[in-house]
Amino acid sequence: MNILLLGSGGRESAFSWKISQSPKCDNLFIAPGNAGTGQYGTNVNLKVTDFEGIKAFALANSINMVLVGPEEPLVKGIHDFFLADEQLKNIPVIGPQQHAARLEGSKDFSKQFMERHNIPTAKSRTFTRDTLQEGFDYLATAGLPVVLKADGLAAGKGVLICLTLEEARQELLEMLTEAKFGDASSKVVVEQFLQGIELSVFVMTDGNSYKVLPEAKDYKRIGEGDSGLNTGGMGSVSPVPFADEDFMRKVEERIIIPTVEGLKQEGIPYKGFIFIGLMNCYGEPYTIEYNCRMGDPETESVMPRIESDFVDLLIGVAEGNLIEREMVISDKVAATVVCVAGGYPGEYLKDKAISGIDNVRDSHVFHAGTTLNGEEVRATGGRVLAITSLQNDMFSALQQATADASRIYYDGVYFRKDIGFDLL
Ligand code: AMP
Repeated sequence: MNILLLGSGGRESAFSWKISQSPKCDNLFIAPGNAGTGQYGTNVNLKVTDFEGIKAFALANSINMVLVGPEEPLVKGIHDFFLADEQLKNIPVIGPQQHAARLEGSKDFSKQFMERHNIPTAKSRTFTRDTLQEGFDYLATAGLPVVLKADGLAAGKGVLICLTLEEARQELLEMLTEAKFGDASSKVVVEQFLQGIELSVFVMTDGNSYKVLPEAKDYKRIGEGDSGLNTGGMGSVSPVPFADEDFMRKVEERIIIPTVEGLKQEGIPYKGFIFIGLMNCYGEPYTIEYNCRMGDPETESVMPRIESDFVDLLIGVAEGNLIEREMVISDKVAATVVCVAGGYPGEYLKDKAISGIDNVRDSHVFHAGTTLNGEEVRATGGRVLAITSLQNDMFSALQQATADASRIYYDGVYFRKDIGFDLL
């Protein structure tokens, strides 16, 4: 098969590493990719939202499957674009169509979906500019802290946890009347605050059956001890010790099955990944959010734990016979430590030469924000490299990934040295 993977982050590096091991993959292309994906396939200089460019490339290179990494092309309708095109309609796209991608693209849509299917989640109500006063009235009774969420995609910044009523009123006002997050905050979901520990659960579905991929925990804050600003993700660990058999059974019965069945009942086709952000509240799972793609940096910890042929599973999704495919998951522990650019997540240093990748001893180095300049790998993005170690136990995985991250050097390099140590 010839496979086209869309995206350019650590997630796509982990996907391309895994896909390239499959005997079913003849040629792998990554658009646009990064310096790391180029080790496993051919990078193609195309933007993930350049649908016409992707079409021309897919036809010229006899692409047999498209795997979509990030949410943006899904929310913009790449799958629908393929289905509506005579020449492309038989090329399977892994990733949902636009309507279903609203599970991620609209918090209001996803909350309503959860309500319709009795999926446990925080109590909430949605407000617009026209119902601002009702929003204020609701806030007065909602209890604190309270969570305000811009309805649309806001580059991971649209969620505010407000500690006082004043703050909540002010934020709601700014989101609805001053377009604080642009169009994304023309609707705002006001939600009860959930106390607990978060984890990410990943489901692969062909729209009928599903398989649960290894779960993971990610670390979003820039600083050690989970302090400071939110980032795209500073590290991840899989498996998650508190996600034991009993907890995961609850997740499957109360969340995964009603989600997949709910989509089916509503006639919403879904071929791809469902990423469920969960809160473990005293042993009970609550859904915080859905994403319509895999997580980053969770994918970097999830892929090494899948022992089966990943392309075979993707074919199962495409052909609608996922139930017949086998997914074997390793008992080992994967830990990922992300090396970021100095200054990230604010203004950060760019275009710095990276050294030390060859000194990494027992980890995978998944590239994220890197580019090749001749032979030289340069750090060009905020998240630069994801260092993943797969070991027999959690302590060894954490220690190895952290030690290997420290073998990387570029001007301003920073990584958290405490990823996963709260789980020990
Ligand atoms: P979301 O974009 O919905 O995933 O929200 C981003 C982050 O905000 C989550 O990963 C949580 O850490 C936090 N968060 C969102 N909703 C809640 C909630 N209802 N209670 C507590 N924390 C939340």
